[in-house]
Amino acid sequence: QLSAHVADLIAAGEVVERPASVVKELIENAIDAGAKNITVEIQNGGMTFLRVTDDGCGIADEDAETAFLRHATSKIRKQEDLEAIHTLGFRGEALAATAAVSHIDLITKTADAPLGTSLHLDGGVVTEHEQVGCPNGTTILVRNLFYNTPARMKFMKRDATEGSAVFSAVQKQAMAHPEISFRFIKDGTQELHTAGDGELMSAIYAIFGRNDAQNMLPVQSHWEKTSISGFVSRPTATRGTRAYQQFYVNGRYVKNRLLSSALEEAYKNQIMVGRFPACVLHITVPETSVDVNVHPAKTEVKFLSEKDVFDCIHYGVLSALNKASGRVAMELPKKPAAQNPPLPVSGKPYTPPKPATPPAKPVLKQDFFRTMSAEEYRSLQTVLDDKPAAPVKKETVKAFYDLPAKTEAPAPAKIEAPAPMIAAPAPVQSVQLREPEQQALPMEEVSYRIIGEAFDTYIIVEQGKTLLLIDKHAAHERILFEKLKAQKLEIMSQVLLEPILCSLAKEEAAAVLENTALLEKLGYFCEDFGDGTVILRRIPADILISDAEASLSALAGQLLSGKQTSLDSVRDELLHTIACKAATKAGYHSEPRDRERLVQEVLSRDDLKYCPHGRPICITLSEKQLEKQFKRV
Ligand code: ADP
Ligand code: MG
Repeated sequence: QLSAHVADLIAAGEVVERPASVVKELIENAIDAGAKNITVEIQNGGMTFLRVTDDGCGIADEDAETAFLRHATSKIRKQEDLEAIHTLGFRGEALAATAAVSHIDLITKTADAPLGTSLHLDGGVVTEHEQVGCPNGTTILVRNLFYNTPARMKFMKRDATEGSAVFSAVQKQAMAHPEISFRFIKDGTQELHTAGDGELMSAIYAIFGRNDAQNMLPVQSHWEKTSISGFVSRPTATRGTRAYQQFYVNGRYVKNRLLSSALEEAYKNQIMVGRFPACVLHITVPETSVDVNVHPAKTEVKFLSEKDVFDCIHYGVLSALNKASGRVAMELPKKPAAQNPPLPVSGKPYTPPKPATPPAKPVLKQDFFRTMSAEEYRSLQTVLDDKPAAPVKKETVKAFYDLPAKTEAPAPAKIEAPAPMIAAPAPVQSVQLREPEQQALPMEEVSYRIIGEAFDTYIIVEQGKTLLLIDKHAAHERILFEKLKAQKLEIMSQVLLEPILCSLAKEEAAAVLENTALLEKLGYFCEDFGDGTVILRRIPADILISDAEASLSALAGQLLSGKQTSLDSVRDELLHTIACKAATKAGYHSEPRDRERLVQEVLSRDDLKYCPHGRPICITLSEKQLEKQFKRV
């Protein structure tokens, strides 16, 4: 049998890996103690000095020494308690483990005790115990972590690295508990202070900063016994890693692949491959349907019903994304121009100064953020599935690519001159005399005016008090992508009167020829001509003949990069490529008529928000914004 000391050191190794894990445990204890304010202070990355102060229930004098014994916990008594754990701690290990490898000072007082308790421990052994005057709550100061375990000490990284791991641990707890105010002080400087007002957005705002917070959309949904709430990033504000995906299950930060996949599923075809959405999502499940006991550090969980959890997140996020407008507000300097410092004389682009004081916390209106529940969303889906895919609301709009080439729409003739005394049928020609603005025949719900097009790329539209800039390539690409996707099985192809000989790179040709069956489903019929040359006999109807070879080579590139595995995702990726190739190019001149159709389509459909790669289709500039820039207000 191991000596108590050795057993403690081994146990300590499991729970206390680095300063950040100590901080996590101490914060969890403070939360379990019902604290409203928690302050974490560190020096030297937490290695020499690490103090956590709370205003929780405190520890009674007679329990203080016990709390540092192994398997000493006040949170669980019998076997049945394990079935439904409501507290963050329950193993009774953290204090013992931390104490075993450091010098500790504890000062604590319960509300009903006249005096508090002060304890000092060295390597887990109590060396001082006295009564002191102190405020209610608990302060634990950990000094010289791992002073007696040099092997562990060697694994510690630079102070800066350990310090940011601690910071990240505090941030996670702050987002897990928006009802608690957290402060983090590093080497004497306050790095974080959350409001503790119960609003998750307040915590996100303090942690992510104004810009990122504004790029997040609220999510709220429930499905069976699972419910989720929180925020996810707009498809235009994704990240290069999954590090910004924060999931909390019943208030506990967790890592879980299932949760990430469910989130990412909702962003399919809206963001680029290799980009990841960010989120702060709270998942609430019955205590009995989740096992948090699978890992000593407790960041891994097992769900009883993985499918319910997956669906709840997937549909909840999807509904939030569908609800949100895809329009991105143009970013302008915040202060009116004259108050800005003079423009630099040469070279460097001008960057607006950051506001000196953080702006007031955003006010959140609860019902404004309520989105469809997964249940509502699903019932809507089943209704939609029965019908052919159609825009949800404005059925009257016909896809512009389906319209006959020339539509001389019989708009009501506007009579400018005083009406003649004798009514005569208006001559047909008068229709052609209409002003261009009147030709746009806005629908009842969507009224707008096309002002023009800049750089043969951005269509400028006035709608109410807002100017819209529509990227015509991005818009067209999305429209085509949706259309191609709707052609469920096979994509319409056109037979080429003269087959095209495409000379591809050897491996491209090989990839094409290995996948002829798949390519046929996409509308490409190809044969081997030998030596890297492929004969194209048919191409998708939407692709211009002049783009045929380039699009095939792009598809070959896709196939070669071969990360996708499921047929569905390969197909989606290939459809992206086809849509991109077939879409009107930016920088090419468009006819006013095509422009009008595109605008009509974009403004009347709900599903056109981002191009299939996640670039926005529409950017807005409000009258207010302009007025501010011109110093009218
Ligand atoms: P656990 O949290 O698993 O119970 P710990 O070793 O973390 O085990 O803590 C042991 C006990 O010490 C807790 O059960 C609790 O009763 C007490 N305790 C620890 N930290 C605090 C605190 N900040 N406020 C009040 N009580 C605390
Ligand atoms: Mg604990």
